[in-house]
Amino acid sequence: MSHQFSPATSSCINKHERNGLEILIRGTVQGVGFRPFVYSLAARLKVSGTVQNSSNGVIIHAVAASETLKVFCLALKNEAPPLARITSIDIVPKKVSVTGDSFTIIPSVGGESANTSIPADIAICDDCLAELADPEDHRFGYPFINCTNCGPRFTIVERIPYDRPYTSMKVFPMCPVCKGQYDDPGDRRFHAQPNACAHCGPHLELVDTQNNPVTSSSALSGAATLLHQGKILAMRGLGGFHLCVDGYSESAVAKLRTRKGRPDKPLAVMMPDLEKVKHHCQVTEEEEQLLTSHKRPIVLLRKKKSSTLASNLAPNIMEMGVMLPYTPAQQLLFMEQSCPDCLVMTSGNISGNPICTSNEDGMEKLQSIADGHLLHNREIVTRVDDSVARVVGKTTHVLRRARGYVPNGLEIPWEIPSGIGCGAGLKSSFCLGRKNSVYPSQHIGDLFNLESLEFYQESVDHLKKVFQIEPEIAVCDLHPDYLSSHYGKKLGLPLYQVQHHHAHAVAVMAEHGITEPVLAVVFDGTGFGPDNTIWGGEILQADLTSYTRLAHLDHLLLPGGDLAVAEPWRLGMASLYQLSEGDSLEQMGLTAGLKQLSQEKLKVVHAMLASEFNTPRTSSCGRLFDAVASLLNIRQEISYEGQAAIELESLARKATTSSWLNQISEFSNTASKSLLHHDGEKWRICSLEFVRILLASLANNTSPGSIALQFHYLLINSVTHILQRLSEQTGIKRIVLTGGCMQNSLLLEGLFHTLTADNFTIFTGEDIPINDGGISLGQIIIGGLQHVSCNSHEGHQG
Ligand code: ZN
Ligand code: ZN
Ligand code: FE
Repeated sequence: MSHQFSPATSSCINKHERNGLEILIRGTVQGVGFRPFVYSLAARLKVSGTVQNSSNGVIIHAVAASETLKVFCLALKNEAPPLARITSIDIVPKKVSVTGDSFTIIPSVGGESANTSIPADIAICDDCLAELADPEDHRFGYPFINCTNCGPRFTIVERIPYDRPYTSMKVFPMCPVCKGQYDDPGDRRFHAQPNACAHCGPHLELVDTQNNPVTSSSALSGAATLLHQGKILAMRGLGGFHLCVDGYSESAVAKLRTRKGRPDKPLAVMMPDLEKVKHHCQVTEEEEQLLTSHKRPIVLLRKKKSSTLASNLAPNIMEMGVMLPYTPAQQLLFMEQSCPDCLVMTSGNISGNPICTSNEDGMEKLQSIADGHLLHNREIVTRVDDSVARVVGKTTHVLRRARGYVPNGLEIPWEIPSGIGCGAGLKSSFCLGRKNSVYPSQHIGDLFNLESLEFYQESVDHLKKVFQIEPEIAVCDLHPDYLSSHYGKKLGLPLYQVQHHHAHAVAVMAEHGITEPVLAVVFDGTGFGPDNTIWGGEILQADLTSYTRLAHLDHLLLPGGDLAVAEPWRLGMASLYQLSEGDSLEQMGLTAGLKQLSQEKLKVVHAMLASEFNTPRTSSCGRLFDAVASLLNIRQEISYEGQAAIELESLARKATTSSWLNQISEFSNTASKSLLHHDGEKWRICSLEFVRILLASLANNTSPGSIALQFHYLLINSVTHILQRLSEQTGIKRIVLTGGCMQNSLLLEGLFHTLTADNFTIFTGEDIPINDGGISLGQIIIGGLQHVSCNSHEGHQG
C-alpha cells in the first residue's frame, strides 16, 4: 500500500520549470524511520515524487523547483533521524516519472548486491517506555512494544531488504490498530517492522522445568516471585537466553555458580535505573552516557565499598559489569513489586557453549540450571550476546562487540576484494569485507567445540546473506589448529595466513584509517609466531601488509604447554628456575605460595623445566602476569581466561593513590632503563629481571598490592623507554597499543600518560575489541591488501 498527499500549492507550479533528481542514500537507513522522515520532509517542502527501500539503499525520486530541491537534499543529510548513519548520498539529475503532485512511499525493490545495512537492535525508547506504563495506552504492559525508534532489528532479520516478510515477525499478522499505525506516515510506528500489540503479537509464558505452565496472575509476576524466592530464572530475551537470580542473594548466586560450573568468573548484573546503579557503583559522565545509550552494553564500573550486593558476583575484582534494561520485558519485570532491584543477568548457556536461543534449546540445555523458564514466541533469527564496554579516561573501549553494535560496518580508506577474515580461537569473531566496507560479526565465543563451530558457521551464512557478500578470498591465523583456520582452509578460496599479532595491530590501524607504518605494542596471551615459538609480548613495526618484529619480552618456559595456561604456579616455578639458572628445587628459593603446593607436583614440573620436556618457550605478556600473580600468591590456578592477570591488576589498582600516574616516572629512574637488551638484531625487554626486582621487594616484606603496582610501573616504563629508542631508529611516532593484556586499564592509562608526555600519537581499539575479538578485522585487511598487491604484480609481500 502506498501513502500519498498532494501539496496544496502544487497546481501553481509550472511543470516546465521543474527539475527531477534521483537520489540514492546508502548507510544504515532502513529500520530507523528514514522513509517516514523523507515523506514528511517532502510534505513540508512541497516536493513530489517517491521514496523506496532497495537492497542498494534508499532511492528517492524528487521533483520540485531547483531551489527547493537544494534545500531538500541538504535537509536529507542534516535532519536525518538519530539512528540513521548515512555513508553516501548520490544525486543524479534525471527525468523521473512522478504520478501527479503527490509524494509516495512505494514498495521495496530487490537488487543484486546489498550496499545498505540493517540496523543493530535498539533499546526501548522513552516514548515506548511511557506507553508501557500508561494504563490508557493500547500497549500498556505489553512486553514486545516497539516503534521505528526502538526494538529488535538484527536479531529478527532473515535477509534484506529490511521488511516484515523477511523477519521473524512475518508469522504475526497485524491487527487493525497495529496495521493502521503501520500504514500511517504520521505515526511513530509507520513501517516499524516488528510492530505488534497484545492482540496480534508475540507473548510471554512462564513454565516450570517440566515445561508445565506456572499459574500466576501473569508470566512476569510469576517470574518476579521466583527471583524473590532466590530461584534461578531462565529468561528468553532479544538475542538469546539469560540466567537470572537476585543480585543481593549470596546463596542464590552461589547456587547459580555451582549449577553452571562457573566458580569465579564475574557475573554481569542489570539494575532498573541509573539511580540504582549509582547507589552501588561509581559512575562518571561518560559511563552514564554509555549505560543509557540505545546500545545499552554491559559497562564495567567500579563497585562502591558501601554496596550491599552479593560479594560473590565478582570475587577479587574491583570492577563489576552493569547494564540497564533494554527490552520492554526487562522493564516490566523490574516494575513487578516482588522483583529484586538488581538481577544477575548472565548468558543462558552451558559453560563453553553458545547461548540458547530457541524455546526447545533453552528448555533442554538449561533444565538442570534453572528453576523456571520465562519463554516467548518471537523467534530469534540470529544469536547475539550482550556487548561489554568500558570507559578508560574519556574514551569508550568495546571489549565484546555484539548486541547494539552488530551488524554496523566500518568504512575503510582502502579497497579490498570480497572476503572473509576467519578470526582466532578465543573470543572468536569473523569479518566480512567488500570494497571500502568491513562488517565484523558478533562475538561468537571460544571456538573449541562443535556447538560453537556451528554457531560460527550459521553466523557466517547469515551475515553473507544479509550483506550479499560472496567471499573470493579467505584469511586465517597462522595457528594450524584453530577451528577458524580449518574453516578458512576448507572454503577452497585463495587463502592468506596472517600472524596473530600483526592482525591485532592492523585491526587498530583499520579502525582509525591509518595507512602509514606504526610501532605496535601487542601485549597478549598466545599467538603463533612464524618461528614456531609462542609470541605474545611483541613490539612490531607494522604496516598494512607486512611487519618486522623489533622487540619482545623475555622468553618464559611453559612447563606442560597449554596446561600451564590454566595453572599460573607453573609460570611462577618457571620464572624462579630461569632466574636461578637451573638450581635444584631446594635452592630455587620457592615463594611461600609455591611451598604450599604438593611436593610431588613441584618435583614433576622442576624435572620438566630441567629437561625442557613438553616445555615450549613463550614471549607472552599474559604468562608474565601469571608468573607474577603466582609469586605474589594471588592465584595459583585459574577457572577462567585471564583470571590471574585480572586479579593482579585489581590488587595493584587498590594500591594506587590519586597521584599514581606521576609516580610512574619516579620509578623509572631507579630501575627500568637498564632493563632493555639489544642482541645485534632486535631488542628484548628483560622482563625476567622484573621478577627479580619484585622478589627482592617481597623479601623486604613490601605488601603484595604495592609489588603488583611496582610490576605495572616496570612494564610501563620499559615499554616507554624502548619506544623512545625504536622511534629514534625508525622515525615513527605513531603507536598502536593492543592485545588482550592491554585491556588492563592500569597498563593502558599508564602508557597513555607516559607516551603522551613523549609526544607520541597513540591509537588503540575503541569500537573494535583489542582482544582476539578484533583479529578477524585485521586479517581481512592484511589478506585483502596482500591479494590486491599480489594480483597487481607490483606490490610487496609481508
Ligand atoms: Zn519506541
Ligand atoms: Zn496489534
Ligand atoms: Fe591475541
